[in-house]
Amino acid sequence: MPASDQRTTRATTCHAGARVNALSIDVEDWYHDESRGAGPATAAEIAAGGARVERNLERLLALLDAAATHATFFFLAGVAREHPRLARAVAAAGHEIACHGLRHVPVALRSRADVRDDVRRARAILEDVTGARVIGFRAPCFVRDVRHLWLLDELAEAGFAYDSSWLPLRYAPGAAPRIGGTRGPTRLANGLWEFPMPVSRLAGHELPIAAGGFALRALPLAFVTRQIRRFNAEVGPAVVYTHPWEIDPESPKLPGTRGYVRFFNGVGRRSMAQKLARLVRELSFAPLAEVYAAQLAAPPALAAADLSAARSPR
Ligand SMILES: [Zn+2]
Repeated sequence: MPASDQRTTRATTCHAGARVNALSIDVEDWYHDESRGAGPATAAEIAAGGARVERNLERLLALLDAAATHATFFFLAGVAREHPRLARAVAAAGHEIACHGLRHVPVALRSRADVRDDVRRARAILEDVTGARVIGFRAPCFVRDVRHLWLLDELAEAGFAYDSSWLPLRYAPGAAPRIGGTRGPTRLANGLWEFPMPVSRLAGHELPIAAGGFALRALPLAFVTRQIRRFNAEVGPAVVYTHPWEIDPESPKLPGTRGYVRFFNGVGRRSMAQKLARLVRELSFAPLAEVYAAQLAAPPALAAADLSAARSPR
C-alpha cells in the first residue's frame, strides 16, 4: 500500500540529550555536478580534470581512522564500480556502505520509473562490489520538494530500510514541511525510516543547521558545534554530511559553471580537512545505521507515519 494512502499515526523517537551524531560522506567525484545546468560532464571534460575521488577519499579515511570514528559512505554506485578497491577498503575499515544512486541526477529531473530502476541497480552493484548489505539511501542533491516524496515508497519497495535525503526547508516564516511532523526520525507506513537533514529555527525561518556543504565549510567550527549541540538538546542526533571534493581545493569545476556556484562550492575547501578532523574530535560520530540502530530494529507496528503531514501544509 502506498504510504500516501495511509492515515497518519505519527510517531517520533525522542533522543533529547543524545551525544552521538551521524556522520555521512556522499561519495562522488568533482564532475558529478548538476550545478552548471548544462547536462552531465562529457568524457573529454572528465579526462581534462582526471579522477580525484580516490585520493580525496583516502584522505578522509585516514582522517577518520586517526579519530577512531566511523561514518556512513553513501556511494554513487558508478564510483564503486569504477573504483572497487576503494569501496572495499571503506567497507573493510568498518564504515557503513550506503547508496547515493547510480547516476548523479536529482529526483526532480527524473521519472519515477527511471528512479525505480536506478536505485535497484545501484543497490545491487554496491552489494556486489563490497559484499556489504546496503540498507540506506541518500538522493543526489537531497530531496526538498514534497512533490518528490514518492521516492520514499520506491526505496521501501526496493528493499531499503532508511532514507536520509529529506531537507525540510521553507524559506518563509512558519513551519517547514516535516514528515510525520517532526525534525527527527520518522517511520513511514511503508516501513522505511526517514532520518532527515537537521534544521533549526532562526529569525522565524527553518534553516539547515551548519552540518554540511557550504555552511560547514564557511562558518567557524565553534558556531557549527554549537548548532549541533543545540539540535542534540532539542531533537536528538544530527545528520552531518560532506563530500570527498570538499577537502580538495585543487578540484576543478565543469566548464560553464556560473561564478556564484564556483564561489559557494569553493569556499573553505583549503581548511576543510583540518576542520573535519577537529569536528570529529570535539563531537562523537557514528554511521547512521549505528546511531539509529534502535529505530531500525523496531517492529513496524510501533511507529508509522505517512507523507500527507508533509504534503498538506504546502
Ligand atoms: Zn551527491
